[in-house]
Amino acid sequence: MEKYDVKFKKKFGQNFLKDTYIVKKIVDVAQIECNSLVIEVGPGGAIMTRELAKVADNVLAYEIDEDLKDELSKRVGDFNNIFLIFQDFLKSDLCSDVAKFNYDNLYFVSNVPYYVTTPIILKLINSGLRFKKIVMMVQKEVGDRFSSPYGCREYGSISVLLQYFFDVRREFFVSRNEFVPVPNVDSVVISFSEKQEKLDVCDIEFFQKIVRDSFKYKRKNIKNNLKDYDLDIILNVLSKYGYDLSVRAEELDVKVFVDIANNLFQH
Ligand code: SAM
Repeated sequence: MEKYDVKFKKKFGQNFLKDTYIVKKIVDVAQIECNSLVIEVGPGGAIMTRELAKVADNVLAYEIDEDLKDELSKRVGDFNNIFLIFQDFLKSDLCSDVAKFNYDNLYFVSNVPYYVTTPIILKLINSGLRFKKIVMMVQKEVGDRFSSPYGCREYGSISVLLQYFFDVRREFFVSRNEFVPVPNVDSVVISFSEKQEKLDVCDIEFFQKIVRDSFKYKRKNIKNNLKDYDLDIILNVLSKYGYDLSVRAEELDVKVFVDIANNLFQH
């Protein structure tokens, strides 16, 4: 059981894992191969950072809380392949930090601070970096949204976006009792593997906008949510899949959104 001599800060989402057993399970999911660089957000007390450093060539870890500097540096002192950056990950120049390393396989593995889960994922996607695998521990309800298939209540714009880029898998459940201090939510570990055959999207920003707009009002159908676009074109696409304009966004597979976005963009 890990003992931490730190003052936990709620504002930074500081709930640290107590047991290396869970950490090892998370690291195993990543299946880190040779010549690897692993990015971690929020090393905290380094429980995961150290396990990552045992299997990866290099680990680059961003920690926002400078008060952890002494403790954290002490805890990683016996590794020469851990590189700490004390900075808000969301403000970091990720691409230029990563460019300082030689690697063949890039990974992201983190027990992320839950208050910035989605901004972290969007930063990874928008960086243009190619991750072999992304493994994240997130709040259970958020993980359910990420991995939800179409037709389910949890399916939303973030599910579509993530499932466009990645094969998303809900790996395992982690009880709140595995953390210190104990948070008021449970967690799940989610993995994102790069899709082997990604659908062609004419304009990725337009696609993202169509997806966001389609889900704008949860109770409204596509006709209402997309009323500012050419509904004839949308109906044409929907009818290919056996739907009409009364369908709700949560009933549509990723490929339907891609088709709608591409057709609207090209006209
Ligand atoms: N990795 C440790 C573990 O599993 O026990 C700690 C995880 S804790 C849930 C989240 C960590 O992220 C904390 O150490 C927190 O200070 C750090 N953090 C919060 N916001 C951050 C940000 N924007 N950039 C970098 N680190 C951040």
